[in-house]
Amino acid sequence: MAGLCMAAHLGSRGLRVAVIEREDSARMASPQFDGRSTAIAHGSTFILQECGVWETLRAKACAIDDIRVADQCSLAALDFATRAAGNQPFGYIVENAFFRYTLFERVRELPSVTLKCPEAIAAIETGDEGVTVSLQNGERLDAPLLIAADGRHSFCRTQAGMRTRSWSYNQSALVATLGHSKPHHHLALENFHPGGPFALLPMTENRTSLVWTERPDVAETLKNLPEEEFCQLLRDRGGDYLGDIHLLSPRMLYPLSFMLADRLQSERLVLIGEAAHAMHPIAGQGFNLSLRDIGALGKLMAEAKERGEDVGAALLLGAYARKRHLDHFTFLAATDLLEKLFSNNIFPLRLARRFGLELVEKIPPAKQFFSRMAMGLLTGTD
Ligand SMILES: Cc1cc2nc3c(=O)[nH]c(=O)nc-3n(C[C@H](O)[C@H](O)[C@H](O)COP(=O)(O)OP(=O)(O)OC[C@H]3O[C@@H](n4cnc5c(N)ncnc54)[C@H](O)[C@@H]3O)c2cc1C
Repeated sequence: MAGLCMAAHLGSRGLRVAVIEREDSARMASPQFDGRSTAIAHGSTFILQECGVWETLRAKACAIDDIRVADQCSLAALDFATRAAGNQPFGYIVENAFFRYTLFERVRELPSVTLKCPEAIAAIETGDEGVTVSLQNGERLDAPLLIAADGRHSFCRTQAGMRTRSWSYNQSALVATLGHSKPHHHLALENFHPGGPFALLPMTENRTSLVWTERPDVAETLKNLPEEEFCQLLRDRGGDYLGDIHLLSPRMLYPLSFMLADRLQSERLVLIGEAAHAMHPIAGQGFNLSLRDIGALGKLMAEAKERGEDVGAALLLGAYARKRHLDHFTFLAATDLLEKLFSNNIFPLRLARRFGLELVEKIPPAKQFFSRMAMGLLTGTD
């Protein structure tokens, strides 16, 4: 999604782009491909507008009007409603399959974007003047810049010898789409349990997206439970407000890890999205962070093109890295801290959580601060 958004952003400004994607586009746009949905913060919708896809996505996006965060061990809770946020939704839930479909359609209609799909990169040669990418079909592409958006195990990043810091959370996220008898009223619910967060996110057509995090062995057991037993556990975990629940999709597992690249640029190469950073989905911020990478790099490249300058110059890539460093660091550190603070049942931390949540609930400016953060209106670059 990051690579396609980047291409749509640059293509919308007339820059020539080739997108190399090894998976088949029809397969990637099917709901069985990853089964996930993405929470798009209100602030991120401005970047999607620049990519020319927000109007289409909005038609099938479900607004989040209320957020309820609760700690199951201390029973403290925090409620946010759009009334507190100037009546704007906090954000929207969009299905990844539809997201990818829309992005593929957008890049196909842009005359300056070429899609090489399915096709993979075999080798990369960089020099002072530009970069040459060899594809597995033998074709060679010359460009001033290679933007690596090839995910957390990035081939491009490894080829450039760029190092990362990473660790596993020893947790897996179980993801599924749910149907239910009662309306969700646009509520996003996140309950913290010692095994990991449990989130229910509102979707269109009265469906709900489940992200249930547990230790990998527990998640595997949950995945294989009979549907009725599994849905009963969902109700017990906090999903009872949805009435009768049934599964609309297979259950899928995602192992969770932290990863941050030591640097974002190398000669004629730059990292965006999960090739640069991967975080715990506890706050649903990973792709929102990637969208801010895309907005920043797209703006710098479009300005350079307008001035007739080199869009892959070291100076431009350095400016991008400086702009993005603080935002990456802030969000990765904050989500890591949240995970460590909430995924346990240790008494002093339980007390701290209760005290913290009650304090935020009672102090309007603190609550407003967190509302703005959830809406993506507050970033590490502010
Ligand atoms: C359970 C879960 C829930 C999440 N929920 C949210 C959320 O609510 N909100 C949010 O903001 N974020 C969320 N995220 C994060 C979000 O899903 C990711 O940021 C996003 O999917 C990653 O996108 P990406 O395009 O950077 O990387 P990827 O999805 O990994 O894409 C990389 C692409 O590169 C291609 N590729 C790789 N190598 C090559 C090669 N050599 N040649 C050609 N192509 C190649 C791959 O086929 C792939 O299509 C969540 C993550 C998880 C795990």
